Amino acid sequence: MLDADFFRRWMTATAASVDREAERLTALDSPIGDADHGSNLRRGFRAVATALDKEVPAAPGEVLQLAGKQLISTVGGASGPLYGTLLRRAGKALGDAEEVTEEQLAQALRAGVDGVMALGGAAPGDKTMIDALVPAVDALATSFDAARTAAEEGAVATTPLQARKGRASYLGERSIGHQDPGATSSALLIAALAEAAGE
Ligand code: ADP
Ligand code: MG
Ligand code: MG
Repeated sequence: MLDADFFRRWMTATAASVDREAERLTALDSPIGDADHGSNLRRGFRAVATALDKEVPAAPGEVLQLAGKQLISTVGGASGPLYGTLLRRAGKALGDAEEVTEEQLAQALRAGVDGVMALGGAAPGDKTMIDALVPAVDALATSFDAARTAAEEGAVATTPLQARKGRASYLGERSIGHQDPGATSSALLIAALAEAAGE
């Protein structure tokens, strides 16, 4: 069973990883965006870590809802509302149970990803965070480690795609040949999940 402490570890591991990789995320957002993805997410996940230092939610769902709320209120770019929706929806799906199963987590993340697709209108293959998140959620049925690998492969596989959503889509065919920054940060989020699970 996964408790609130597991979810807190997931969020703090994500914050640490985003902090370490912020320059790389911003560099990826430079040729096909506005070079702010790393700084956007660094600001957002620092706020998440700070909020989780002050408040100690007793339930996994509350940890994710608090994190989502922080991302929505502190990240200016497209990724803030999208990641915020992912975590808030997943948190709502988990409700106020003090412990949840891995299967419940997988279902909750599926609901979160559906929320991101509904909000942003992106489908798999549009060269967005969805291209890392969907395969990761599918692979969660196997293991956290399989989800991490699937997310990383999904992020790398965005390189040859033409962007159809977000800023990168304004470039049309010139978006081809660059890895999507949001898919890359989604792979960090899922890698942190595997880290929290000790895998
Ligand atoms: P902005 O583009 O507003 O500067 P960020 O740079 O923080 O925001 O985030 C860009 C990332 O957000 C993209 O790489 C992409 O993965 C993701 N993204 C943008 N628009 C959408 C969308 N409509 N649906 C899903 N993901 C999106
Ligand atoms: Mg940007
Ligand atoms: Mg921006």
